[in-house]
Amino acid sequence: MFPEINFPRAGAALVALLCCALTACGGSGGGKGADGPGTAGGRKAATPQAPAPSPSVRASAAPTLPPGPGGATPVFSHGRRDGGKRVALTFDADMTSDQGPRAARGEHFDNPALIETLRRLKVPATVFMTGRWAEQYPGQAKSIGGDPLFEVASHSYSHHAFTTPCYGLPTVPRAEARADVERAFTAFRRAGVEHIVPYFRFPGGCHDDGVLKELGPAKVTAVQWDVVSGDAFAKQAGPVASQVISQVKPGSVVVMHCTRSAAPTTEEAVRRIVPELRAKGYEFVRVSDLVAGH
Ligand SMILES: [Zn+2]
Repeated sequence: MFPEINFPRAGAALVALLCCALTACGGSGGGKGADGPGTAGGRKAATPQAPAPSPSVRASAAPTLPPGPGGATPVFSHGRRDGGKRVALTFDADMTSDQGPRAARGEHFDNPALIETLRRLKVPATVFMTGRWAEQYPGQAKSIGGDPLFEVASHSYSHHAFTTPCYGLPTVPRAEARADVERAFTAFRRAGVEHIVPYFRFPGGCHDDGVLKELGPAKVTAVQWDVVSGDAFAKQAGPVASQVISQVKPGSVVVMHCTRSAAPTTEEAVRRIVPELRAKGYEFVRVSDLVAGH
């Protein structure tokens, strides 16, 4: 989630309230990644099995950027501006590690209608999924990851912050940062996700040189964005669609969300965005397509 640009006109108090709602601050306060699988609609989440291989095993399947100085994790924000009218829609499937009780009470952190719309409109997309989301919705995670239209990347396991402060998110201890990133990939494999790409999006986008160096051995490319949709907590789809349509440039990476709880208008916004950008000559691609041409 990206409150820094989602709420540019909101008052500080409102920002704090929305961040709180999105990140479950003041929730059950469960420890980082310590809570077990929850249930949604009576459906039991995946049960951890045997250890899975390192995410770097899959790295050869998707293009990555070369590491930075000292082996630091490289950061990708957009593709080439002279590479044609290509744009990548990205959807953060947010669920924080302590939001299981809220899901059990009926709160929806998924958005099946959004995924169906992307399929119907044949829009490729990259889903940045938290490991906790994959545990909560293993069937959907597997379905998304088994569809050649989509690729699944890590949005951390816990959706906790990797630098402080970060909009009130609880913080992952620096020494556990790499394990949190990799735990998401492990959760994907346990859910049966096939099309995993070695990309990582920091919760809130919050990072610094130190954490990039810390994550170097994970062999992921950090993916930021250059277009903010503003879909988090939006009440109307129109302004979200207008913002995206007006800001997209060749090579853009658009950040949106795949969670009804925090972004209820995203599916409708996508229905408006896709035909308009196509009419302007844009082709929808995945992040890996933009990284490949970088
Ligand atoms: Zn997020």
